[in-house]
Amino acid sequence: FVCYRFRFTQELHAHLNGSLSEDTLRDLFMENPDLKSDERIKSLISSFLLKSRSLEECFKKFEIAHAVTVTPAAVKRATKDVISDFAADGVAYLELRTTPRSVPGIMSKSEYVQAVVDTIKDVQAFNSSDKFIIVKLLLSINRQESPIEAEENVRKAIEANAAYPDIVVGVDLSGNPKYGDVVRNILPLLTEARKSGLKVVLHCAEIPNENEVEEMLKFNADRLGHGTCVHPSYGGSEKLWRLLLDSKTPLEVCLTSNVKCKTVETYENHHLRHLLQLQHPFAISTDDKGVFSTSLSKEFELAAKTFNLSSLELCNCVAMAINASFASTDEKNELMSKLSAFKIERG
Ligand code: 5GP
Repeated sequence: FVCYRFRFTQELHAHLNGSLSEDTLRDLFMENPDLKSDERIKSLISSFLLKSRSLEECFKKFEIAHAVTVTPAAVKRATKDVISDFAADGVAYLELRTTPRSVPGIMSKSEYVQAVVDTIKDVQAFNSSDKFIIVKLLLSINRQESPIEAEENVRKAIEANAAYPDIVVGVDLSGNPKYGDVVRNILPLLTEARKSGLKVVLHCAEIPNENEVEEMLKFNADRLGHGTCVHPSYGGSEKLWRLLLDSKTPLEVCLTSNVKCKTVETYENHHLRHLLQLQHPFAISTDDKGVFSTSLSKEFELAAKTFNLSSLELCNCVAMAINASFASTDEKNELMSKLSAFKIERG
């Protein structure tokens, strides 16, 4: 059987606004009277889908999605569509992450977060045995923004976790890796978040940065995004690679994103090959399925074809992602038993 088309995958690294499909972007654009006459945004939407660009150009793409998600109603619609897209692709457990955003006079950061949480609650209320998806939320800190914004987002995450502990489960550090003094300004805030019970994930080593990566690895995050420039062959060092392996921290691996942003040259050369060889835990993920024109099943297919993975090995990838997820113990048990039933059914 073709395992990457099965129905119980786990998506652990998906940015909400980077995951909007072109259809959702167009609909949101058409529904907003202020934007409908904006030819610039219209033409930008056609260029949302990314071919192969530099990391810098990848970050420009998010401005397009941000331009159409400026009201709580638009944020709700965007969240609902993204969850439906993942569910239709066979994702049974989804961790979305998003940066709380305010739009002066229209939407506060609290309203933004509330719109996403309310949509997740609504979607999960309709879960049934044949239509089933568990959705969690991580709130992101954009390292390009000021330390004041970072502190505000951590505070929002702590408040949201207190109000919705089953939904808002963690914080994420993301944004353009060229900017921000993470070690000085952000890691102390994330220590506070961790103390209040939130999980912490860090985008780590997307570009070489020995000192920052070392501090991130020593921070012992619950998971790390990408982890590209840790291995000595990719601009890291033996010391960083050893720290990563010893920590056993799972990596969120986004093949298409890394190759399209040119932080990795080819699929064959992706650092996933080292993780597979050394059995270091990882979770195959999409990153920004809208920007990179991908889906989780496409990422599984790519991994299978590039690294010659058997069906059983792909099932092991799913099990690894369940273990690395922020689902509750009951939810993990339920996902594992669905995976086992699937394996028995398909032989
Ligand atoms: P949002 O947080 O608005 O829902 O999703 C888009 C944001 O996620 C971007 O503005 C950026 O801060 C972050 N993001 C998306 N993809 C990446 C990535 O590959 N690397 C990093 N470091 N940040 C990303």
